[in-house]
Amino acid sequence: MSDPAVQIADNVARVRSHIADAAARVGRSPDAVTLVAVTKYVSAEMVRPLVAADCFELGESRPQKLWDKAAALADLPVRWHMIGHLQRNKVRKTLPLVTLIHSIDSPQLLTEIDEQAEQPVRALLEVNISGEAAKHGFTPESLERFLPELAKCRHVTVHGLMAMAALEGGPDEARRDFAALRQLRDRLQTQCPPGMTLNELSMGMSNDFEAAIEEGATLVRVGSALFEGVLPSG
Ligand SMILES: *Cc1c(COP(=O)(O)O)cnc(C)c1O
Repeated sequence: MSDPAVQIADNVARVRSHIADAAARVGRSPDAVTLVAVTKYVSAEMVRPLVAADCFELGESRPQKLWDKAAALADLPVRWHMIGHLQRNKVRKTLPLVTLIHSIDSPQLLTEIDEQAEQPVRALLEVNISGEAAKHGFTPESLERFLPELAKCRHVTVHGLMAMAALEGGPDEARRDFAALRQLRDRLQTQCPPGMTLNELSMGMSNDFEAAIEEGATLVRVGSALFEGVLPSG
């Protein structure tokens, strides 16, 4: 068994080089893409080698796990990203801990966050771009209808869109979903109220982040690829 810290550092280097290659293929700077390291598979102690390898942007998909890890790693200079479904009764405790909420998936959640916030909140709107019934998020049509409502926000600033590719369908389908999110963004960008933008695109995970970057991702959420050789089942 190799040292997990060495293995994780290798994984981070490999993922970063694939990010840079994908960006270069489409004439983008590697700095235009932020790696959000998703830590949901591992304990707080296994996050430390990740941070030692210069991953300071960390993501969790469950609020309770984000709270626990943020507390256990409070000594580290990391920023937490909420990337999964945020129940309305978990908003209050989550807000002070996070740098960006990727997963505003309903008008009700946005309202709840805006009402509970005491500080500015940065957020993305989650779009169900693949149309799968199990996915959270705005449909493209409901997003378009909803955008003018953003003008009412007092604490939340929307910076962009987030989506997940279809679970089944493979790489071609994933790329189509990413392209569709970018095209939706391009079409709706000018309809944002003042102060709001759709500049950020959070899309791409371990299996498809290179395609996502080629299609315009500015944030990729990568978990399992960072823990290859460390997790029991690979
Ligand atoms: C788990 C998760 C990821 C990371 O998935 P991997 O395939 O392990 O890279 C990204 N985004 C969300 C919303 C997740 O829940």
